[in-house]
Parts: sequence; structure tokens; C-alpha cells
Amino acid sequence: MNWSDFKREANFIDGEWQGADSGATIDVTNPATGEVIGTVPNAGRAETVRAIAAADRAFESFSRTTADERAKLLRRLHAAIMDNQRALAELLTVEQGKPLAESMGEVGASAAYVLWFAEEARRAYGDVIPSPWGERRILAIKQPVGVVAAITPWNFPSSMLARKIGPALATGCTSVVKPATQTPYSGLAWGVLAEQAGYPAGVVNILTGSASAIGGEMTANPIVRKITFTGSTPIGKILLKQAADTVKRVSMELGGNAPFIVFDDADLDKAVEGALASKYRNSGQTCVCANRFYAQAVIYDAFVEKLAAASATLKVGSGLEEGVTQGPLIDDKAIAKTESFIADALAKGGRVVAGGKRHALGGQFFEPTVIADATSEMNFSREEIFGPIAPVFRFETDDEAVRLANDTEFGLACYFYTSNLSRAFRVTEALRYGQVGVNAGVITTEVAPFGGVKESGLGREGSKYGLDEYLDVKYVCLGL
Ligand code: ADP
Repeated sequence: MNWSDFKREANFIDGEWQGADSGATIDVTNPATGEVIGTVPNAGRAETVRAIAAADRAFESFSRTTADERAKLLRRLHAAIMDNQRALAELLTVEQGKPLAESMGEVGASAAYVLWFAEEARRAYGDVIPSPWGERRILAIKQPVGVVAAITPWNFPSSMLARKIGPALATGCTSVVKPATQTPYSGLAWGVLAEQAGYPAGVVNILTGSASAIGGEMTANPIVRKITFTGSTPIGKILLKQAADTVKRVSMELGGNAPFIVFDDADLDKAVEGALASKYRNSGQTCVCANRFYAQAVIYDAFVEKLAAASATLKVGSGLEEGVTQGPLIDDKAIAKTESFIADALAKGGRVVAGGKRHALGGQFFEPTVIADATSEMNFSREEIFGPIAPVFRFETDDEAVRLANDTEFGLACYFYTSNLSRAFRVTEALRYGQVGVNAGVITTEVAPFGGVKESGLGREGSKYGLDEYLDVKYVCLGL
């Protein structure tokens, strides 16, 4: 199949491809060219009600399949993804903008999550607990939570669904998912893949359209027993409040404000390499991208100089072009936000040492930017940048670095570079984050728990912990 075969302009409900009841559609554009590449249905509440009902019916039998059957289906899903890796990656780049190499990596990661959960499906062990009663036995068994609703963002339109659909399918849950409106095709492609793998109708349902109508029904409907969301903290808070009315299980992967600390004993070349990968992947549009660089005073100038020089080597352009490392930003709003962060920093004494403006290519392309002399007064010290700006702050002592790093309501990922082992442990334990990269700038993998503390979220995705989020523990007391 080629990429356009995966470009489904319909929703996937109860095993059938359908338009919105109203016939209304939404345009999808290529951020590299501004061209409309197709449409998707503008579905709302009624379609969501039907999808949830279909998932509920499918749950009856799917929840009773054996772990072995589910593992085999997941392996078929993994094969379907890998057989079509290139086509899925091209589709991703066309609707999202990231360089093809990154899209290949993301689709590969999706497959890796699916394979991981195929393996974990058989390990949803319970316990036999020593009983306080001679005539009774005590068991704890794990069962699928039920119908799961998933809402995902545009920055990783394939792999964010893999982390949710994968464990749902592994545990015997059925799902209703809503991909982001900017990048719906990589989400809808999961319907094609589910068909190829041989999943029964209703096990996976995919809807595009009004976020508030679909999200509203997902959270209000009592049949849905879990909401899993990846996106911004403000929308996560809305969903949490809405989910409270029917007391659903929740997993929230929300915003970040990742610090990246470079200590005076760090290997500076490795730190710059890590910084580049952490900052500019997906043109800075990931929730684990380094948002604030803190360099210790002694090495501050050297780090800034090396980072600026390295940033200048990045190649901006269409993600389909060979050698491009920086695709376009997702939309005009993202460009305007990036420009306003830079204007704010310059007004407060910041110094642009690389990039600093829209790229000569025009459209939604922006130069990779480094800003020296960053201070806590600047907006990007508190807000998530989600664009290609690397502000570098100065610090003197370890305590100061940790205090500054923790001075945020977020707590998703953080990074630091040092060659001192005791410093590595002390700082790791003091940082209030869900994920820590020590001498490593890109740390996400399906085998490790991804997730945040504080306002960055609830729950973990991937790893053995990611399976439990889809399982309820049932206590069984067995009288003999
Ligand atoms: P981002 O800033 O990354 O676009 P959002 O949190 O706005 O993050 O969007 C992430 C996902 O949440 C998208 O699929 C979007 O359509 C969806 N979304 C936005 N608003 C709502 C809402 N009120 N209810 C449910 N989903 C929403």
C-alpha cells in the first residue's frame, strides 16, 4: 500500500467506514505547503454514542479472549505496521510536517509499543495472598477496565495512539479514539491496520470532528470506564472535571517545561549533542523537549557557543526532502507564539545567538533559535515553548540549579549532564519530575514508564506499568 491508501476520509465505527451524520467535513492541510490534502468527517455526539455502544457490544466477547489470542492479534498488528512503515511515515509527514526520518522512527516506535504489549498481554498476573483465615483463600485477579476513550494530539499522531490502543488491546479492552483534528489520517490509519490484523468489529473505533462534542460524550457516557488523554494541561483539566461525574479511571499525559542542566564537569560535546536532539526533535514540538537550558557559570559561554554553532547546522525544509532535520511548525498560531517568545526575551535583555526569525522559505518554517542571557522574568521560563527556541539560563550552584529546575507547576521530563556519580544521584533524587535523562537527551522507549508528576499528568504509559492502567484489580475471597 502507498500513503494515499491509508488516507481514509471516513470514520471507523463498528467495523465500517462512515461519514458524519450531517455530511459535514473538515479540511486537512499539509503544513509544509499550506495545501488542503483531503477532508475528514466532522462528527459529534451522535456518532460518538454509536461508537461507544459498538465498543460496549464488542467488549462482551473481546474481554473473554485469552491472553494468547490477544497476543497473536497484536503481533499481526505489529506486522501490518512494519509492512507499511514507509507509507505510514509518508502520510505522517504530509499531514504533520516532521522529517521523513523522524516519521519512520515514530511509526517504528508505534510498532514497538504494539509488540511490547503483545508480550506483556500474557503477564497480567494477579496474586494469591496468604489468608488470615484457615477456611478461606484470597486471590487478586486483574480484569480489563472496559470501554476506553482516547484523545490524542497532533505532534505524535501515530505513536500516542499506539501507547493507548496497544495496552487496551492487550488487556481485552475495546476503545473509541479521537485523533487531533490537524493530523487525523495517522489516527484513522489504525482502523485500516486493525482490519488488516483481523480485529472484530467494534474493538477499535475512530472518530474525527468536534473535540468538545466528542470529548463531552466520551466523558459523560457511563459506559466509558476510562479516559486516556495526551495533550495540553488546560484541556486535561477540563476532561478530569468532566470524567469526575461518572468516576472514570483516567490517564493524563499533559504539558511539560523540561529543564536541561549542564554542570561544569559535563562532557560539553555530548551535552550539545543531547541538547540538539532534545530541543529540536519535531521542531521543538514535543512535551518532553528541553524548554529551559541551565548552564553553570564556568562553562556558560562555551556551552552557548557550541549550541549556537550546532543549531546553525540544522537543515530547515519540507520533511519529504532528503537531509532536512527541521520541518514546518504545525500552524500559523505556533509561528506567532514562537515569535512572541523571542520578542518578549529580547525586550527583557535576551540575546539571539542563532536563528531568531521566520525562515527564508516562508510559510510555517522557523529558524532554530538560541537565546543567551535568559532570565526567570522571560515568558519561556514558565510556559511551554513548543517551538525551536533554546533559551540558555546561567546558574552558580547545584542547589540553585535544582531550585530553578523545580520552580514550575510541570513535572514531566528533565535532563542533566555531569560526569560526577554522586552529583548524578543527588540531583536525580531532588528533581521533581516523572522522567530523568542523565547524560541522555532523548529517553523515550516502550520498555520504560512515560509520564509526569504535578500538573504534567497522572499515570504511566509503556512498560509494565502501562498495562496496569487498563486493568482493574478484583479481590476474590473463596470460602472452602
Ligand atoms: P495541543 O495544544 O497540543 O493541540 P490540545 O490539548 O488542545 O493540545 O489538544 C489535544 C487533543 O485534545 C486534540 O485531539 C484536541 O482535538 C482535543 N481537545 C481539545 N479540546 C478538547 C475538549 N474540550 N474536549 C476534548 N478534547 C479536546
